[in-house]
This record gives sequence, C-alpha cells and structure tokens, in this order.
Amino acid sequence: MSSEEQGNAAAARRWREVIMPTYGTPSVELVSGSGCTVTDAEGNTYLDLLGGIAVAALGHAHPAVASAVSEQIAKLGHVSNFYSHEPGLRLAERLLQLAGVNGDGRVFFCNSGSEANEAAFKIARRTGRPNVVAADRGFHGRTMGSLALTGQPEKQTPFEPLPAGVSHVPFGDTAALDEAVDENTAAIVLEPVQGEAGVIVPPEGYLQSAREIADRNGALLILDEVQTGIGRTGYWFAFQRCGIVPDVITLAKGLGGGLPLGACIGVGRAAFLLEAGQHATTFGGNPVCCAAALAVLHTIESEGLLEHACRVGKEIIAAVDRLGHPAVKEVRGLGMLLAVELDGDIAAAAAESARERGYLINPVRPDTLRLAPPLILDEQRANEFVRDLAEVLSEAHGGEGKN
Ligand code: PMP
Repeated sequence: MSSEEQGNAAAARRWREVIMPTYGTPSVELVSGSGCTVTDAEGNTYLDLLGGIAVAALGHAHPAVASAVSEQIAKLGHVSNFYSHEPGLRLAERLLQLAGVNGDGRVFFCNSGSEANEAAFKIARRTGRPNVVAADRGFHGRTMGSLALTGQPEKQTPFEPLPAGVSHVPFGDTAALDEAVDENTAAIVLEPVQGEAGVIVPPEGYLQSAREIADRNGALLILDEVQTGIGRTGYWFAFQRCGIVPDVITLAKGLGGGLPLGACIGVGRAAFLLEAGQHATTFGGNPVCCAAALAVLHTIESEGLLEHACRVGKEIIAAVDRLGHPAVKEVRGLGMLLAVELDGDIAAAAAESARERGYLINPVRPDTLRLAPPLILDEQRANEFVRDLAEVLSEAHGGEGKN
C-alpha cells in the first residue's frame, strides 16, 4: 500500500468508528476544492464530475459565493421565523421570476430536498384529497414522507409503515398515469428527469400529458426539481423545456451553492394551501444560505452558464458516442445531468479506476455512471475526461476495446 493509500485508509477507519453509514465508507478524505477540482488529504487532485451530487453548480470555493456568505454571516447570520430579512425576500422574488410565476406564487424555504418534498406533500394533503400518484424508481428523499413518495421499494421496506395514500406508476407511461389519477388524487409527483434512477429522460410530451391529466382531475402537478433545477439541465427549471408550469416546484442541491437550502414553490392555489402555523422550520431560508443562493443565481445568469451547460453537455454525449466503445450501451441526459449506461455491472469498477486517474464520477446504478459536474466545466477538460474514459472502460470491461 502506498503512503497516500495508507492515509486515506486511516481516515476511512476513523470515519467508520464515529459516523453512521450513509453509503459505503468513503475511500478518499477531501480537504479543499477550487473550480472543478477537489484535493484530498494526501494532496491528490481530482476533476469533480459529481459536483457534490449536483450541488456545486459553480464548482468549489467560488469567490462570489464565498464573499456573499462571509459578508452575510458578518452582518446577520440567523433570523427566526418571527422576522423577515432582505436576502430571503430577494431570493423568493428572484425564484418566482425565474420560474415565470411572479405575482402568482409563494416560496417556502427549508434546508434540503427531502424537506422541500415534505412541504409539497403537506400542500397536497391540504387539498383535502387523500392520494398521491408518483413514479416507479422516482427519488424524492429519505425522510418518512419523502420516502413514501420515492418509488424504490428497497429503500422503503425497512421503514414501513410509511405515510399512506401514495401509489406508483411506471415513469414515462402516460396511459398508466391517466389510469391511476382520479377525483381522490391530491397530486401527481414527478421528477422532470429521474436522477437517482439513472438519469431517465421521459418521452417527449410526457410532462405535458401529466399537466393535462392533473388539470382534468383537479389534482396538483408537483415537479421535484431538486436535482434538475437551477440550471442543471441547461434551463433554470427542467419543466421550462416542455412549455408547462407545475403547481408546486421543489428545489435544493444547486440552489445554495454548497450551503444547505431547499425551497418549495407553490403556484396559484397551491401557494395558499398552507396556513400560518401549519408548517415551519428553524433554519429554513437562513439569510446566509439565501445570500449564497442569490450569488449562485446571479453568476449563472451573468456568465451565461445555462447555454454553456447545454453546449458542454451535448459535447460530452457526442464525444462518448464517438468513442464507439464496446462497454457503452448508451449515453444520455440533458445539460450537465448525464449518464453512461454500460454493458454489465461494471460501474463501480469504472468509477474506482476513474478515481485512480483523477476523476470523481458516480456509479448511480450497477451498470450506469452518472456525471453531474459543475456547470462551469469547460470543453477541454470534458474532452480530456472522455479520452481517459475510454481507458477506464476498457479496464473495467476486462480489457476489451483498448485503443
Ligand atoms: N429529490 C431528488 C430528485 C433528489 O435527487 C434528491 C437527492 N438525491 C432528493 C429529492 C433529496 O434531497 P436531499 O438529499 O437534499 O434531502
């Protein structure tokens, strides 16, 4: 074992002793980041193509976020729900504008994607109808309410009974959705692109049909944009690609630029279903997190990062296709939310071999790699990665297709 492997292994042992497991034991201890790279305790640097799982939209230690945070914490770090504050007000106004619902929407701030979905679930319950229809393999979080919405039985079963009234239908199947929704349906809950399920882009017209089915049945359409929102797919919100407006939008991940911030946006009647005293959180919409988010939104806009994310994302897809590598079954995605589906369950081996070559990527499924890099990733680095990916895949695929 090299000395750097020893250092990372020692950190992993200490971590295991005092931290309950979330996923596997981390094999690398990260100490700093800058732009699209992160550095471990041994001084190795990595191109971060996972971006804190779609969080680091502007990369790491972005100066605009760092100064917004330090200025705000030095001025006013926290305010309880009894008082208002300027960063929260400005952020809510900006989000409503970007979503195209200013004048017709209101925001509930919280600290994570799960919490944003809990708020959405409570809004749905406030319609007075009992049921919610969500999608198989959808992911909406792991708190009890959001877990009930998540369509992955292996994550749900150990924690039953979950809140009742949620059914799941195959994602992308309009007929199944139409059949499941009726006058007892409070809401349809969907991700515009399923992230954790392996970056599944639904067929053309699916979200428009979901909108129509919700309207016809008097149900709310809740879109979980926790992973897809804030520029990730090359749009501020992925629903904007489809020309529809949902009743509820949930956000987190990229919104806070690395600080914990979630939001649940209610549109039209959904903005008024929660009454004062029915829902709140101590830290949600903290001024420091809101200041960070304002810096994120401003930078995405002023640096043209939506167009950039579209362009570089397409370039990565085209470059992986050009490899013609036998281990690649399909490369897909939108903007900077991408997946490479592989021939066999080799994603973990590929991610490990990529790490040894200086890249952080995520085996989102046994046979699928996910890329959710910072939106600022440039073409040159993206192309270098794809070039090295050929070697990574050849190694993981048992030496086939070497070139
Ligand atoms: N919804 C979606 C679509 C997600 O991808 C995630 C996180 N992967 C969540 C909700 C849960 O967010 P959090 O981990 O911040 O609670």
